[in-house]
Amino acid sequence: MGETLEQYYQSLGLSPKVYRFCKAVEKELSTRFLEFDEVAEYNQVKVIRAMQEHKVSDYHFADSTGYGYNDSGRDTLEAVYASVFHTEDALVRPHITCGTHALTIALSGNLRPGDELLSPVGKPYDTLEGIIGIRPQKGSLAEYGVTYRQVDLLPDGGFDYEGIKKAINKKTKLVTIQRSKGYQPRRTLSVARIGELIRFIKGIKPDVICMVDNCYGEFVETLEPADAGADLCVGSLIKNPGGGLAPIGGYIAGRKDLVENAAFRLTAPGLGKEVGASLGVNRAFFQGLFLAPQVVNGALKGAVFAAGIYEKLGFECVPDAAESRHDIIQAIVFHKPEAVIEFCKGIQAAAPVDSHVTPEPWAMPGYDCDVIMAAGAFISGASIELSADAPIKPPYSVYFQGGLTWNHAKFGIMMSLQKLVDAGIVSL
Ligand SMILES: *Cc1c(COP(=O)(O)O)cnc(C)c1O
Repeated sequence: MGETLEQYYQSLGLSPKVYRFCKAVEKELSTRFLEFDEVAEYNQVKVIRAMQEHKVSDYHFADSTGYGYNDSGRDTLEAVYASVFHTEDALVRPHITCGTHALTIALSGNLRPGDELLSPVGKPYDTLEGIIGIRPQKGSLAEYGVTYRQVDLLPDGGFDYEGIKKAINKKTKLVTIQRSKGYQPRRTLSVARIGELIRFIKGIKPDVICMVDNCYGEFVETLEPADAGADLCVGSLIKNPGGGLAPIGGYIAGRKDLVENAAFRLTAPGLGKEVGASLGVNRAFFQGLFLAPQVVNGALKGAVFAAGIYEKLGFECVPDAAESRHDIIQAIVFHKPEAVIEFCKGIQAAAPVDSHVTPEPWAMPGYDCDVIMAAGAFISGASIELSADAPIKPPYSVYFQGGLTWNHAKFGIMMSLQKLVDAGIVSL
């Protein structure tokens, strides 16, 4: 006789009490899970059709070296991305080092001195502050004479249409819209709401470029930003669209001229997309994209599972277990530093990699307080893999996301609860 599942879990430190509590929560979420399954099925078919349309073949998985001229795998992958995101063109490269880099080349490729950048949805992701020059930084857009305006969301999370109208002027060249809340307390924007915003902005200034920071949003819905009128959408391959297999990379999908401008910034003016050897990553990029709808599905199930569990225990979850989802990030507000630390220890303890290490709060560059991070990833820093982090300051919220499989996400979340129970912070 082999071990039962409960015995397996027990051998990994999970008590029957925690397991059964979580199992009951999982049962209550079955309708939500079905919703996610339907979105995943739709997106899976979307990806397969794009691959068939562009006749993806095994020779596209070959690598190229040197200048990378005529890398048909790279060019076909970019065509597939353009089909999936319903855009004219795409730039998908291992030379784009991260999401911040992808956003940087999309912005700096399409803005010129004297132009103005507008964020109508409040402060963008932390790393963009230096790029835009909100925070002084050598090489920022501000140093190149690009000005910046920001219109915050209204207290109820709505768009400040009056303020946006006032902020748009003859210099406004590009509008950046961040889909995910990132690590801000606001709600994530649905593609439909992004569409409303874009229609409003184009109604005032039709030729303004609308760019969406799509990080963490890909494949969460059946629509993507270009379906709602975005001219450019930008993201990281070590998040959703890399499907956990891409070892590096970013993408920019959108109008052909705007993608070309970004490519001229990534490589060199005039060279653009023609150069850039793929160095053997093509297969991982294709296969990762193929798996991405299913990986995102698992991450979403993990996110609502966590919300279901912690809500039941009286903690505020953003979003809650019943709300519609527009990204894969789950925030849980604990109001206690010990709780966020134990939560992160549980996530770490469930990892396939580095489960034996214990995360500790630490001073990190760019943060004004200690931060604790839990991750045991195959790809260093990949936040599509199960990961959690928390700044050690009020209100003591933990942000967590990812999970390459639903079963792993589930195990991680159950272990987080186990640690809280073991530390006497929560009793079931
Ligand atoms: C992760 C993220 C970024 C930056 O991506 P990195 O790969 O960490 O540089 C930008 N915007 C949002 C909303 C993100 O979630």
